[in-house]
Amino acid sequence: MKLERGTMGTAVAQLQGDLNFCAYDAGPVDGDFGRKTEESVLALQAYHGLEKDGIYGDHSDAALMGEVQIIQEALTKHGYHLAIDGAVGSETLAAITDFQKKNGLTVDRIVGNETLKSLGIEIPRAVNQSETVVPSPTVKPLPAGNGNGQLVCINPGHGGSDPGACGNLQEKDMNLVVSLRLGQLLKERGFEVVYTRVDDRWMALSDRPAIANANNADIFVSIHHNGSASPESSGTLVICYPGSSKGLRLAQLVLNGLCNRMGLSNRGIIQRDDSDVTFSNMPAIITEGMFATSPSDCHFFSNGGAELEAQCILEGILAYFNS
Ligand SMILES: [Zn+2]
Repeated sequence: MKLERGTMGTAVAQLQGDLNFCAYDAGPVDGDFGRKTEESVLALQAYHGLEKDGIYGDHSDAALMGEVQIIQEALTKHGYHLAIDGAVGSETLAAITDFQKKNGLTVDRIVGNETLKSLGIEIPRAVNQSETVVPSPTVKPLPAGNGNGQLVCINPGHGGSDPGACGNLQEKDMNLVVSLRLGQLLKERGFEVVYTRVDDRWMALSDRPAIANANNADIFVSIHHNGSASPESSGTLVICYPGSSKGLRLAQLVLNGLCNRMGLSNRGIIQRDDSDVTFSNMPAIITEGMFATSPSDCHFFSNGGAELEAQCILEGILAYFNS
């Protein structure tokens, strides 16, 4: 799939229809990939943290289809029967027209913020919404370096009946997503990985470092996300055990990785007595990559930020073992 300035035909018309549906304003659906369509693709790419070249390729296609699918899924939950295929066809247009009419919305067949809200989709659209400032993940090459069989124990914090901090996203889910991806990246680079949990289940706090100890892990990385009563609170911090110089070094390297790549504010390192870092026998950290209670952090997380966060923590771990 590659559509760009100058391409003409039905594939371009379908793209323009999909972009308009998702409020990226591609202009008239005329099958002619002109300046307006290019600007619209650039906005899509910026929103999803993709390389901004204005060319509609596979990554842009996956991003746009994903958005359409989320909307189609929400429409089916509101009782509309339609295929969740990621392409806007007559069924989807009929459903959105009816939905907008019944909910007192402007019937424009564009799923902007008001329609998203009525559909129960929490994530606000950044396009044309200057009040929603979201740091866009810059696409950088994956950090270089390899492990040499070192064992990393990864703890996705909370789980099951304990959701952790809750905002637009639940912390327990964010923790699991980042943990599983981090583990995958580590395994690809020659590390051994042990998880404390790999699904949505409750576990006692004390069982978590115990798993790291029982496996004789080289380091223990506990993945959390922060919470605050204020939705304005945002940014990154890392916790380690007071007095552990190796723990502090690991915390510093992971915090560097997080701050360098994610562009969120640096809230620093906190040295404190906290079950995960206190009861583990090896250098241990707790990462609080973003705030589950911050709408902008959650938005970022769902739009490339989760992947970036896993890469950032990887970068810190690689630096720890290779420097
Ligand atoms: Zn937590």
